[in-house]
Amino acid sequence: MVSSEYERRIAARFATFDQDGNGWIDREDFIAASKAVLNEFGTPARSDKGQSLYGGAEAFWQGMAGIADRDGDQRITRDEFVNGAVKRLRDNPERFAEIARPFLHAALAVADADGDGSATVDETARILKALGVPEHIATATSAALDTNADGKVDEVEVVTAFARFFTVPE
Ligand code: CA
Ligand code: CA
Repeated sequence: MVSSEYERRIAARFATFDQDGNGWIDREDFIAASKAVLNEFGTPARSDKGQSLYGGAEAFWQGMAGIADRDGDQRITRDEFVNGAVKRLRDNPERFAEIARPFLHAALAVADADGDGSATVDETARILKALGVPEHIATATSAALDTNADGKVDEVEVVTAFARFFTVPE
């Protein structure tokens, strides 16, 4: 039972995690998210960057399952997400940042076309859009990350913003 505006918004986040839209979050959704990011940037799955992204996605899935899959069936249902993950992550957003960090680190490496170690604002927005974040939110979030206006974004800030997006209302 969704009992508040906050939980309604978190339920909408569920749809972003449920990449294939089958009503639950499982490993396949994290694989789908990786494929979407690789497709966006034309990066081969078998490349080092592709393999790092899949590795990060697996760690992200394992972390989410550890927090939310209360019955251990390798699926996070909407109820498990809203009533388990949300409450625990709201109390500990740093925990969410930690489990998402390897995936986000790898995604930024995929997006970092010139290999200088940081992604641009536009590249970061493309990651978020590939993951299904609505375009206006992806664009605004990415622009806000560039605190010193040099057109590049800092990984720590990306992780923090991602955690904020998924754990609290915009
Ligand atoms: Ca799914
Ligand atoms: Ca479950």
